[in-house]
Amino acid sequence: MALCRSVQGSIDDAVLEKDDRSPVTVADYGSQALVCRSLAASRPSDPVVAEEEAGALRRPEQSTFLARVGRELASVGVEAEGKTICDWIDRGSSQPCQRFWTLDPIDGTKGFLRKGHYAVALALIIDGRVEVAALGCPQLGDPAAGGLVYWAVKDQGARVAPVGNPNDSRPVQVSDCQDMRLARLCESVESAHSAHDRSARIAEDLGLGGQPVRLDSQAKYATVADGAAEIYLRLPVNDTYREKIWDHAAGALVVSEAGGQVSDTHGRPLDFSLGRTLSANRGVVVTNGPLHERVLDAVLASTPSDQHGDGNHD
Ligand SMILES: [Mg+2]
Repeated sequence: MALCRSVQGSIDDAVLEKDDRSPVTVADYGSQALVCRSLAASRPSDPVVAEEEAGALRRPEQSTFLARVGRELASVGVEAEGKTICDWIDRGSSQPCQRFWTLDPIDGTKGFLRKGHYAVALALIIDGRVEVAALGCPQLGDPAAGGLVYWAVKDQGARVAPVGNPNDSRPVQVSDCQDMRLARLCESVESAHSAHDRSARIAEDLGLGGQPVRLDSQAKYATVADGAAEIYLRLPVNDTYREKIWDHAAGALVVSEAGGQVSDTHGRPLDFSLGRTLSANRGVVVTNGPLHERVLDAVLASTPSDQHGDGNHD
């Protein structure tokens, strides 16, 4: 996360104006290299299914870019040659299997670029179930001190601690709110990720009082898990998009171990046993638990007619 913060801190407006995504790419590659390197050392036989791969980075014309990733790694004390860095990144190119880790090295790219929320999300999946999760949220808590890390182990609860200070941890617990008028909703900043007009109708239906809190990345799961919001909706913007496992695995376990509830928009549990996507699910509904059925009813009532059905027809 120190590497991500370093890269995010060096983004300047000129780079953004040119629509050059290189800062985020440096951070994506650097973060994936570091996490895969550490999994290679601690869990050498575990495959990793990660978002990025190093193919483009290995091309000779990308040597300057690769050197930049190397400099960022060196800035956090990891010296390595370009080929070694690419090999670390490509440890993340495994296929989902009986036991594997899934990694999103930078979740919430757009938030990262606008210096907003993003997350580093890692989860262990065994037999299609998320067993362990770690969710780094550099912009939650005290961003100047590095933010917060949430983690959870199935059936053992969720905890959070400031980055670099695991001994200062506390349990994570969802809010006990049962009153819709007090419930707080969070959703994606990007309307391409979740249908805002539909969630506004649902919020009105439910009688939610406040404005939606818009936040990039799985920091939304952390926000519900930690009792700072009661509802997170990710509503399908079309019927073809399938959610990626690394965008949800870590957050879903942190919320459920904090006492909350996670399902898709039809009330089905998220199914992590089907490969790189949640192909049997449509959208995501996350709540503190007591509100879940009422939220689901409102979501189903608002479902566009072309998105009804069992979701398994493809
Ligand atoms: Mg990503």
